[in-house]
Amino acid sequence: MSRFAKNLLIIQAHPDDAEAWSAGTLSLLKDKGWTITIASLTAGNMGGVGMSEEETVATRVEEAKAAAAALGANFHCFMRRDAYLFDSEELRIEVVSLIRKVKAGVVITHAPFDYHQDHRTTCQVVDAAAIVSSLPNVPSPEPPLDITPLLYHGMPMSLSDPLGNPVPEPHFFVDISGKPMEKKMEMLTHHKTQQDLMRLMHKMDDFFGEMRIFNAELGAMVGCAEAECYWQHLGGGYQKDPLLQEELAPYIRHREENQK
Ligand SMILES: [Zn+2]
Repeated sequence: MSRFAKNLLIIQAHPDDAEAWSAGTLSLLKDKGWTITIASLTAGNMGGVGMSEEETVATRVEEAKAAAAALGANFHCFMRRDAYLFDSEELRIEVVSLIRKVKAGVVITHAPFDYHQDHRTTCQVVDAAAIVSSLPNVPSPEPPLDITPLLYHGMPMSLSDPLGNPVPEPHFFVDISGKPMEKKMEMLTHHKTQQDLMRLMHKMDDFFGEMRIFNAELGAMVGCAEAECYWQHLGGGYQKDPLLQEELAPYIRHREENQK
């Protein structure tokens, strides 16, 4: 019996990030009986084309709620302004409160070497909040956790850092071929606004299709059809139990094994 509750909280910068980078893994954990909460620090304000910021916020929050509902997950938005996300004392305390409220055993956020500034800021806020979530002096209305949750980082687009260099080797890949990938596509299709945005921003005609191609590229690295990948935060202050790796053991892949 693990000393960590099977409550997973994924905190990302934008309303579609959890789906884009981790939905296959979330689907596998949901099927194993985990409680999943998806949170976004911003409401995706700048991610609208042909609609005002206010309309974009309302639409994107609804899209994210529908995507979370498709998984049977909870959704929470911290309602910060997309593209103007800053680390602050208030935001850290709000994040601590959510970590405590859902009694998170595992927290997933972006990687510290992610390509997007909002993603890196989110990583900084979530790391700073998670590491104090068991400390009684943090001024949160929620009672402290018994143990600091395990922290994991999801994949950045193209597995490259802000300068375009390759990121460190992922600690593990998760085989999401088949049903988890289909659930991921179902969740992604709720983010209809992002098809138009990605066409404008990244000249991507089919954002959802591109996500499947990216997952297939990762899968090819480890000998399966589609994959996601992760790093566990093993630095000082965090426990090192390989809980997700054990929970998902039949689906865990490593690149070296495939290269032998
Ligand atoms: Zn994002």
